[in-house]
Amino acid sequence: MKKLLPYLFSILFLLSCQQDKKHEVVEHEKKEEAHQKEKVKPKQPTSGVYLFVLGTIQDAGSPQLGCYRDCCRDLQSNPDPTRKIVSLGLIDYENQKKYLFEATPDFVSQWSSLNSFAGFDTNKVDGIFLTHAHIGHYTGLIFLGVESMNGDHVPVFTMPEMSKFLESNGPWSQLVKVGNIELKALTNSKEIILNNQISVEAIQVPHRDEYSETVGFKVQGPNKSFLFIPDINKWNLWETSIVEMIKEVDYAFLDGSFYDGEELPNRYMDEIPHPFISESMELFSALPEEEKSKVHFIHFNHTNPILIKDSEQREKVLQNGFQIAEFHQMIEL
Ligand SMILES: [Zn+2]
Ligand SMILES: [Zn+2]
Ligand SMILES: [Zn+2]
Repeated sequence: MKKLLPYLFSILFLLSCQQDKKHEVVEHEKKEEAHQKEKVKPKQPTSGVYLFVLGTIQDAGSPQLGCYRDCCRDLQSNPDPTRKIVSLGLIDYENQKKYLFEATPDFVSQWSSLNSFAGFDTNKVDGIFLTHAHIGHYTGLIFLGVESMNGDHVPVFTMPEMSKFLESNGPWSQLVKVGNIELKALTNSKEIILNNQISVEAIQVPHRDEYSETVGFKVQGPNKSFLFIPDINKWNLWETSIVEMIKEVDYAFLDGSFYDGEELPNRYMDEIPHPFISESMELFSALPEEEKSKVHFIHFNHTNPILIKDSEQREKVLQNGFQIAEFHQMIEL
């Protein structure tokens, strides 16, 4: 038996090595698949105005720092490149202009996705529209600073409180002072005409406004329009009827942070300052199919089961006639 022991050990060692190798191969295949998914781009148009989804995740991303629960454990070591923080791009092929909605912590890749996809002026964005001063929505501006790209008067469209916040707090104030960005004033409910193809209207919404007010955007393209409200408190706390707003546009990208109260145990549903997807579906349930299909949920928290392929909740949203915003989805306006 003594003589056999070393052999036994080496067999066990070999077996465990093979297990490791197998695990490595699976991990590698998974990564390749994700990278391929990122590389697959829709066909590039050459005319018209397009909305381009650059990110669908809540401010903190997915995986979220420090989360080792089922939602993030595997992603911590093997991130999914299609999980980028909420942002929309707008490409106007007629006038050769590009715009970004939000400057997220994923700004670097989103800037380059927008530029490479547009295929003209490959390192330029003609304007950035910001909804509010929460980390997922404006901190990407930092990459326009002197330590980074050293932007040259990149137009940044903001509401008054948001402007004040950027002008009076470092490091944002330096971007303004040095001229990396140029602040352009937005007024609530006042449409600004960007050119003969696009107009944008900021619409103030209720949210946790510690540093700035919060807005959503209504964007009118040459033929179609969309609404973008990534963050809002419960629908009934807004004096405007979201149901009526949906009727006025062709597409509505709406706060889908949480599916329902199940995601956050130990917290009362009413304490969560977002409309749950389950609540929104209930509120929109009387709408005709055509209206329902305009709704694209977006801004998903890392815990949201909508993010899981084939999840029961994901199926339910689609079965009910609503849509789920997808990374690199394109819509002609
Ligand atoms: Zn947010
Ligand atoms: Zn998580
Ligand atoms: Zn927010």
